Amino acid sequence: MAETDKMKCPDCGAEMNHHANKLVYEGEPDEASDEGGVVLEAHTCPACGRSATREAAPPSRG
Ligand SMILES: [Zn+2]
Repeated sequence: MAETDKMKCPDCGAEMNHHANKLVYEGEPDEASDEGGVVLEAHTCPACGRSATREAAPPSRG
């Protein structure tokens, strides 16, 4: 299993650079949960400059 899973640019297919993570909140804030939000990975394409985000893989437990 690959540790780092490169994101491909949806426009040109180049491998994108992962440059940041950001935490976003979704759903009802009243919802009882230990997790207040999801982490999105921000990626930028070195070839065409497009930026995109995807949901980061959750940390494995156990
Ligand atoms: Zn691109």
